[in-house]
Amino acid sequence: MPVYLDNAATTRPCEPAVSAVFQCMVEDYGNPSSLHKLGITAEQHIENARKAIAAALVCDPQCITFTSGATECNNTAILGAAENYGRRKKKIVVSAIEHPSVSEPIKFLEEKKGFEVVRIKPSRNGEISDEDFLAAVDDNTFLVSCMTVNNETGSIQPVRKIFSYVKRNFPECITHCDAVQGFMKIPIRSAELFADIIVVSGHKVHAVKGVGAMFVKKGIRIPPLLMGGGQERGKRSGTESVPLIAGFGAAVRALIPTMPVAHENAEKITAYLLKKLAKLEYVTVNSTAENSSPYITNFSVDGIRSEIMLHFLESKDVYVSSGSACSKGAHSSVLTAMGIPDRLADSAIRVSIGRTTTMGEIDALITALQEGYQSLAKSK
Ligand code: PMP
Repeated sequence: MPVYLDNAATTRPCEPAVSAVFQCMVEDYGNPSSLHKLGITAEQHIENARKAIAAALVCDPQCITFTSGATECNNTAILGAAENYGRRKKKIVVSAIEHPSVSEPIKFLEEKKGFEVVRIKPSRNGEISDEDFLAAVDDNTFLVSCMTVNNETGSIQPVRKIFSYVKRNFPECITHCDAVQGFMKIPIRSAELFADIIVVSGHKVHAVKGVGAMFVKKGIRIPPLLMGGGQERGKRSGTESVPLIAGFGAAVRALIPTMPVAHENAEKITAYLLKKLAKLEYVTVNSTAENSSPYITNFSVDGIRSEIMLHFLESKDVYVSSGSACSKGAHSSVLTAMGIPDRLADSAIRVSIGRTTTMGEIDALITALQEGYQSLAKSK
């Protein structure tokens, strides 16, 4: 059996998700816009899924729009906010450790549309200081963006503190949160987060790839990226992928009741992993944030490039990710922003555990790491 420790990249779809997808492919295959019975049944699947996502985010189902994934949601949110709210105000304040689906559209606005962008750097442990963030927001700021959990290090960001301050002092400023790595792992309640927009993705929570959802608070107007048939109340045109949406809803419904137990289990597994890693003198743990997701651990193996170790582990049927999002000599922008030296950034490994990860699998990882270090360090 493979030891799959790359759950931040994607997760294995759970049984309820697969069943729902199957059902919507072989039986309930109507177009939700059709007026006949098959269409209405398809539409019901979408509305049930909408209710499930809304229950998880504690919001009105009418505030949820389905898309092709978090990348589309983040693009829609950022470009749409700039279009509607960035006419007079020209400043965006964003953390420097966002996923490219956030940082790239913001870079586009900066380079091609003349917006001013302030990027807030994290401390060495990967946490954004809310004070640095707040000091940058002013009357000219129309958008602030900060993720819940960083996808490379697992550091949890003080989103609530930042957004509540912003809303108290600059109520018109749009607050956008990429909650992809936090969703179904830490509580994310729309009102408590003071977020105008929250973005989540299906395939990180045991649903299928190619579906995401965004919460947009009532009264916030985000123009659509895709125009056409007016599906999703005009917010996202294109025939809805009923199977993927239904699978997303089924996965979330199945995960909600077991979130606290899963979290407790993840904490135990990660504590065990960290204890084992501490015994390896050639390992430096990069996930050192005080407030950290127990699902993601990033560490560096002295002198062994990430990809080399990744492939050695793969040869032992252990699947992890290189800490760096880029290969071919480019450093991880997240680790670099944290001030982690190139030597460590080049050898970073991300282990992201899932709901079914066992201590035995962590043992298998540690054994493979030890073997890898012994054989690769020798051949250096
Ligand atoms: N944001 C974060 C934090 C992510 O980890 C990812 C997936 N790597 C995305 C956005 C993009 O999600 P999707 O694959 O659904 O487009």
